[in-house]
Amino acid sequence: MQTVQLLIGDSDRPASGAATFVRANPLTGEVATTAAAASPDDARAAAEAAAAAFPKWSALGPNARRALLNKAADLLAARAEEFATLMMAETGATAAWGHFNVQLAAGMLREAAALTTQVTGEVVPSDVPGSLAMAIRQPVGVVLGIAPWNAPVILGVRAIATPLACGNTVILKASEVCPATHRLIGTVLREAGLGDGVVNVITHDPKDAGAVSEALIGHPAVRRVNFTGSTRVGKLIAQTAAKYLKPVLLELGGKAPLIVLEDADLDAAVNATVFGAYANSGQICMSTERVIVHEAVADEFAARLVRRVAELPAGDPRQGPVVLGSVVDRTTVERVQQLVEDAVSQGAKVLTGGTAEGTVMQGIVVDHVTPAMRLFREESFGPQVSITRVKSADEAVQLANDTEYGLSAAIFSRDIAKALELAKRIDSGICHINGPTVHDEAQMPFGGVKASGYGRFGGKAGVAEFTELRWITIQTGPRQYPF
Ligand code: NAD
Repeated sequence: MQTVQLLIGDSDRPASGAATFVRANPLTGEVATTAAAASPDDARAAAEAAAAAFPKWSALGPNARRALLNKAADLLAARAEEFATLMMAETGATAAWGHFNVQLAAGMLREAAALTTQVTGEVVPSDVPGSLAMAIRQPVGVVLGIAPWNAPVILGVRAIATPLACGNTVILKASEVCPATHRLIGTVLREAGLGDGVVNVITHDPKDAGAVSEALIGHPAVRRVNFTGSTRVGKLIAQTAAKYLKPVLLELGGKAPLIVLEDADLDAAVNATVFGAYANSGQICMSTERVIVHEAVADEFAARLVRRVAELPAGDPRQGPVVLGSVVDRTTVERVQQLVEDAVSQGAKVLTGGTAEGTVMQGIVVDHVTPAMRLFREESFGPQVSITRVKSADEAVQLANDTEYGLSAAIFSRDIAKALELAKRIDSGICHINGPTVHDEAQMPFGGVKASGYGRFGGKAGVAEFTELRWITIQTGPRQYPF
């Protein structure tokens, strides 16, 4: 098995001292990947390579950048099978999740390609006679993207696609959980011909995450940071970014509520819950973790939900198509089971699931969950959903907001006007009426509030994040001075 190398400038490189680390397959414990374990010096070399590549890349015309990003999208799509196989080995994901990752990530590269002509500015009226004042968006320099493992192709590509479209060069700091998957993104972009040093990829030993990240964030050439991952690590990244005064976009954890009102189409709500709670075994930041349902329809909703969840196929994803593959590690199994046990000890009831074979978990539904239970508050990041009963729409909104998180939410009701009013009262970046909490499209302003982070990827919001807005004037006539 080949060692995954760093991508720095024009070369595949081993880490200093040829240091490596191993990522094991979560199902079998066998070595999935051996990868270069970068040192802080290697990380700084990547920042320097990206800085050296910046003048040429930023000077390319928008259609030249567009063509290269579109080519990268095609090359990425052509490698879908390879990405899916790597994801299966490194994270235990299903083949379907792998292919969906590649499809959406290719879409993100195409959306970024389309954005190259949208890096625009404006003329601002000036009070100074003869002054033409412009607000101009310019690339910032080097952008650092830090990505997690759970949707590795989507989130690895998202971390760098819009920054590249804006004319920045990038460093992708891979997750230690999926180094080969993240590194392959760099290979694809290099093959597309973006140019040496435009995209750099750093892999590292888990124990070096803090030191390598700080070396990158602190490097003077790095001007923007984006981070997708847990709220715990997001806070550390925000502190490091503050130390070096670097703006940072944070996409963090979630505890998405799905509200089911009395007048909801129950089958539609059940279908959205099944998809939103169990896709990728619940390991999505937008995963439906809490169903908040009106008591008048709660029993019927729960019965229909359980019938569907009990039938979800679970198993080793390498043996054939399943909905529930392996979760990422045993810690996930233990965390979810502890949260469920804690809820049961306080009166909640498990309606289905709860068993695990190794890292393959059946889908779990827990009913009668209350805000006093940890299961209501803590991100489980596993294949479970809890049901909480309420007496009114107002109480549903109050409970939906009774969380530190605020990424995605959903409301099911046939009264669209009422649902829209409720949607506006939910503290989240994203809210879908009669749709699942799990929904991502490249052109949408994606991001959260509260402990789910700040800043937005996607579309023009992304352009604003990864460009500097400059004020530039031209004095076109004589200028009057007071002295
Ligand atoms: P994580 O926070 O453990 O890791 C994310 C990244 O942080 C990785 O690249 C990792 O190497 C790095 N990291 C880990 N420890 C670090 C440290 N001490 N200093 C600096 N960097 C460090 O998260 P994860 O387990 O990979 O991903 C799951 C989490 O991500 C969940 O909480 C999920 O909700 C969240 N997530 C959010 C979004 C979103 O768009 N909001 C999307 C996907 C996942």
